[in-house]
Amino acid sequence: MQKIVKTEAEWRAQLTPEQYRVTRDRGTEPAFCGLMHDSKEPGSYFCICCGLELFNSNSKFHSGSGWPSFFQPVAADRIQYLEDRSHDMVRKEIRCARCDAHLGHVFEDGPPPTGKRYCLNEVSLKFVPVKK
Ligand code: FE
Repeated sequence: MQKIVKTEAEWRAQLTPEQYRVTRDRGTEPAFCGLMHDSKEPGSYFCICCGLELFNSNSKFHSGSGWPSFFQPVAADRIQYLEDRSHDMVRKEIRCARCDAHLGHVFEDGPPPTGKRYCLNEVSLKFVPVKK
């Protein structure tokens, strides 16, 4: 995939401070801070930084974690995986494959068919509902 690379100043100009903190500075938003985690509305979820389609509502499930959760991305090549050893834990960080935006983490306690739980920061996503 062709990478999108921007300077820190360019990302800051484009994003809100909270979007910047999470996606470019690997931050985490508080659980239950938005409405997206509980939504089953049909539609697609796009990277807030570069607009790449990352997830679809048909793979979204209610995890109870307070963050939007999916059992798979729309395509395997949309996500890159990095080992994250911060906070005395070993976790798998997920990033947008095109612009390296920090999205959240993936865990192995998800539902069938994948058993994965992609745990997302809501501010890293832009939701576009299916047109009625
Ligand atoms: Fe992106």
